[in-house]
Amino acid sequence: LASRDFHPENTVISINGVNIGGGELVIMGGPCAVESATQIDEIAALVKAAGAQVLRGGAFKPRTGPYSFQGTGVEGLIMMAEAGKKHDLLTITEVMTPEYVDICAEYADILQVGTRNMQNFDLLRKLGTCGKPVLLKRGFSSTYDEFLNAAEYILAGGNPNVMLCERGIRTFETYTRNTLDLSAIPVLQQLSHLPVISDPSHGTGRRELVVPMTKASVAAGADGLIIEMHTDPDNSMTGDGVQSLFPDQFADLLKDLELLAPAV
Ligand code: PEP
Ligand code: MN
Repeated sequence: LASRDFHPENTVISINGVNIGGGELVIMGGPCAVESATQIDEIAALVKAAGAQVLRGGAFKPRTGPYSFQGTGVEGLIMMAEAGKKHDLLTITEVMTPEYVDICAEYADILQVGTRNMQNFDLLRKLGTCGKPVLLKRGFSSTYDEFLNAAEYILAGGNPNVMLCERGIRTFETYTRNTLDLSAIPVLQQLSHLPVISDPSHGTGRRELVVPMTKASVAAGADGLIIEMHTDPDNSMTGDGVQSLFPDQFADLLKDLELLAPAV
């Protein structure tokens, strides 16, 4: 079902007038984690003002260590849904377990599967029947074939609205947090009809690299971007402040993309 051989036309995912995969560049921006109602409201206003269409924010956080901040949970989901409604933005949030799919689907417009859960097959099966579009992140050590097979689980369950997200893979290089595999963008678009989204924030782990790698992703043909932005990145509750853009950088980047888009 994911293969272009059996489905030559691009899949376009339409949510409240936003078309993902239809040729318009879709931008998802926001903090790594929903921290408080004020934080997500302030950031949503900035995301909207910059011209993005989707507010990102994790309520359930997949942390490497069990003693790190684990997210604001259902309260965070509610805070983000309110901010999205108030600022007229779609919302995307990560779901980590099958039990939480229904509640996440109730509050968010798009459900995200994190890199660590790409092969959580029970979760993928449950997402096949959740009724909401899914952004599936590539496992940080997964091949394209494994990635497309993971998408296949969701499609096979009856959900045709799946986006593929390249978020960086593990290589021998340690200067960057991950290595953003830009080739994934055209390769996945050749192999599949599903929209391809790039995540230069997790893909590099370094704020100063997010702007150039966003532009490179657009040049490579990405259908959209998911970018971390925070009003106070030095005090963010996850370690991802170091890769979060400041609001001004985010707004300037989106202005640059408007100039870039017609040229590529
Ligand atoms: C995130 O989007 O904040 C996140 C945890 O992403 P990933 O699964 O790519 O690490
Ligand atoms: Mn993050």
